[in-house]
Amino acid sequence: MLYIEERKEIVEMGKKMLNSALTIGTWGNISLLLDNKEFFGITPSGMDYNQLTPEDIVIMDLAGNIVDGKKKPSIESPLHYTIYRERKDIKAVVHTHSIYASAMAAARKPIPAAVEDLAQIVGGSVRVAEYYLPGTEELGKAVVDALQDRYGALLANHGVVGIGRSLQEAMTVCEIIEKGARITIAAQGVGGVVELEQEDIDFMRNFFLNSYGQDN
Ligand SMILES: [Zn+2]
Repeated sequence: MLYIEERKEIVEMGKKMLNSALTIGTWGNISLLLDNKEFFGITPSGMDYNQLTPEDIVIMDLAGNIVDGKKKPSIESPLHYTIYRERKDIKAVVHTHSIYASAMAAARKPIPAAVEDLAQIVGGSVRVAEYYLPGTEELGKAVVDALQDRYGALLANHGVVGIGRSLQEAMTVCEIIEKGARITIAAQGVGGVVELEQEDIDFMRNFFLNSYGQDN
């Protein structure tokens, strides 16, 4: 089997995502760019992550062709390859339907950068990408726009995308966005969050990108 290590890594992260309660059942999908930067591995369509084996991971190119694998790739594969085409600074994409972030996405409200971890790992407020149907390249392009200078975005009436220099980093982005959404909603009861100054966000972001969490 080709790319066994990368396939194993995706399967492990899928199980981790399931246990983290970021997602329920077969919703959500995960991909990892391979070292040649031309192919990526992605979770298959509609499979329970607990049943997933490395053989189930589908290898695709950035044009959306299947390179290796017997299963059908996730319906959201256009979202993944559209991001890889445009974002040369990252290696992994995680897409989830976690509850509080999806609530913000359904309300089409960005998550302000009001706490330190969100500022550091996302790089600013989490924008809402324009609505397009799931599984379309248009959705992918709208998400790329919303991801400008960020590691995460909301998909209107849908869910979350986190990207990163490693699978773990992209997963952490999704977790921190879910936490940021919970805080934003909870703070409504005491008058709403106060967003950090851009200067302070940039300082924390640069510290995060350059001082730790590097994955080369
Ligand atoms: Zn989805």
